[in-house]
Amino acid sequence: MAMNLFDLTGKVAVITGSSKGIGRAMAEALAEHGAKVVITSRKADLCDEVAAGINASGGEAIAVPCNVSHKDQRDNLLATTRKTWGKIDILILNAAVNPYHGSALDIPDSAFDKTMDVNIKCNMAFCRDVIPEMRERKDGAVMIVSSIGGLRGSTVLGAYCISKAADMQIVRNLAAEFGQDNIRVNCIAPGLVKTNFARVLYEDPEVAAKRIAGTPMRRLGEPEDLAGIAVYLASKAGSWTTGQVFCIDGGVTTAGEG
Ligand code: NAP
Repeated sequence: MAMNLFDLTGKVAVITGSSKGIGRAMAEALAEHGAKVVITSRKADLCDEVAAGINASGGEAIAVPCNVSHKDQRDNLLATTRKTWGKIDILILNAAVNPYHGSALDIPDSAFDKTMDVNIKCNMAFCRDVIPEMRERKDGAVMIVSSIGGLRGSTVLGAYCISKAADMQIVRNLAAEFGQDNIRVNCIAPGLVKTNFARVLYEDPEVAAKRIAGTPMRRLGEPEDLAGIAVYLASKAGSWTTGQVFCIDGGVTTAGEG
């Protein structure tokens, strides 16, 4: 029988910000491929709903609420996962914030700090807490959901883009240090995806039309468009892939527009 390169049976995955949008689509896809998944975000009721949906369709999921910027809640998320399933094989750091839209000269210190804290420091904290057990087992896949914004200058989302560029460097650093332990660490950089998070960037039809015209595939992304890369990176298919940034953007960065 041919081995299924994408089979995740027996693997345990934690996906932050998985009650909605991209994180949810990734979690559901990992579950469909056999992984046990932890659904987590700030709002417990939504996490419960998503986990129940996965369980009802034959997958395995638990819901553990966690605001990633609170250490006690991060600790509880990881401890509950380990208590339930004994380990963490796949860590997807997807939750992020974008509290400011405007000139780089006007951003309040508090908004700048919050962006760096959630989008960079919390990701590092999760890596520090989970990579040691992956090293012991000589197996693990870590993904950070960055953005194509981390590759380009921005006139209105500067701090957010700084944080997303930093995520790309985090994966290079960790890939370099822990490749010898068979831990793969990669960034997924989406283009504009139709979620609540990006609503201001596509709800104006004129802005959306311009964006679509600059996208070689002539459409915006759907959360499900990001699911396949997560399954690839989590599975045997991605076993020699590390330290990379995957732009999943309908070709926007290739075209140099949009
Ligand atoms: P979304 O649909 O709004 O989902 C965001 C998820 O993160 C929700 O589950 C939300 O749930 C959770 N969340 C937010 N703040 C959190 C916190 N402090 N702690 C824990 N969970 C938190 O957004 P999305 O578009 O899927 O965004 C996911 C990732 O994709 C982000 O890293 C974003 O930067 C990146 N991205 C998005 C786009 C795009 O166009 N959509 C493009 C490039 C990159 P709660 O509200 O319940 O906490």
